[in-house]
Amino acid sequence: MKIIKLTTYRVPPRWMLLKIETDEGVVGWGEPVIEGRARTVETAVQEMEPYLIGQDPARINDLWQTMYRAGFYRGGAILMSAIAGIDQALWDIKGKVLGQPVHQLLGGLVRDRMKMYSWVGGDRPSDIIEHIRTLRAGGFDTFKMNATEELGMLDTAAAVDKAVERVAEIRAAFGNSIEFGLDFHGRVAAPMAKTLLRELEPYRPLFVEEPVLAEQAEYYPRLAEMTSIPLAAGERMYSRFEFKHVFEAGGLSIVQPDLSHAGGITECMKIASMAEAYDVTLAPHCPLGPIALASCLHVDFASYNAVLQEQSMGIHYNRGGELLDYVVNKEDFRITDGYMQPLTKPGLGVIVDEEKVIEASRNAPDWRNPVWRHADGSVAEW
Ligand SMILES: [Mg+2]
Repeated sequence: MKIIKLTTYRVPPRWMLLKIETDEGVVGWGEPVIEGRARTVETAVQEMEPYLIGQDPARINDLWQTMYRAGFYRGGAILMSAIAGIDQALWDIKGKVLGQPVHQLLGGLVRDRMKMYSWVGGDRPSDIIEHIRTLRAGGFDTFKMNATEELGMLDTAAAVDKAVERVAEIRAAFGNSIEFGLDFHGRVAAPMAKTLLRELEPYRPLFVEEPVLAEQAEYYPRLAEMTSIPLAAGERMYSRFEFKHVFEAGGLSIVQPDLSHAGGITECMKIASMAEAYDVTLAPHCPLGPIALASCLHVDFASYNAVLQEQSMGIHYNRGGELLDYVVNKEDFRITDGYMQPLTKPGLGVIVDEEKVIEASRNAPDWRNPVWRHADGSVAEW
């Protein structure tokens, strides 16, 4: 079997799907994307095409190493996302050829169902209590929200109080009947992270995500020393070679590699295994589409330390397109009592609605996150 063609489709709300075709008619789907830089990743995929055309899609390990090593320069959000989507599509092909779901090829199920969580609130956290009520009625009991709006590198007691009061209200409304993680989202710089963690600790959030940016990963062990809140990060780390530093340094309780950013299923299985060796849990990042989510689930179902799975249904970023819009077998993506079942169809288990994908790709907007400014006019982290 040989790879004969790669086709990319940029689709709303901010995703990209990749179709890999073979000379025997078997087709695989991947999702190579960096949100807001879809065209750049698309070009990276096209530049990797010569390594793939004419090659045997079954040799995923060799093709992965070729894409990673043969170009001399490597790593980073764009190149690793391109590899990620191609890798997913190759696993999809392998599963379809062998008639097995990908988790079987990864060694089989390690659990029966996977715990899912839902985003609540938006970019600027508000109306969260109402939103949680609605989602609880649908069976969710675990949530994640942004902890703050813009926060200066050195901000005020009032800004800290605002963040803490919101969390206090949630605990007051729901007690311990729900769990929630707080995403600092890179908005909090080291000088404020300590203060916020200390003030939030009495409300026992399930975790705090990106307590500081990955560029300041040296703070993770120092912050972990002074708080009992589990710290999470990883959506902006792209390979084993980055994750090894945070494993060695300690401090993170949860790693969150993104299956569409960190080299795909091949790489994230390795990151998951490394995490297990350090007693670190896995909660793959996934505000993306159906192929990315399916890829996450196959890794989760084969990884002992996978504890939580993010998913984008109903997320505030989605405008003009939802995960299920592009899926024929929507029933396989049902979340019951906050859990998903393994996807059991061959390959990744997503029957892509190709007509919808093609139609949606015709006028796909170029999504950009907003550019925020602080009161003094300087750029704020979104
Ligand atoms: Mg995040």
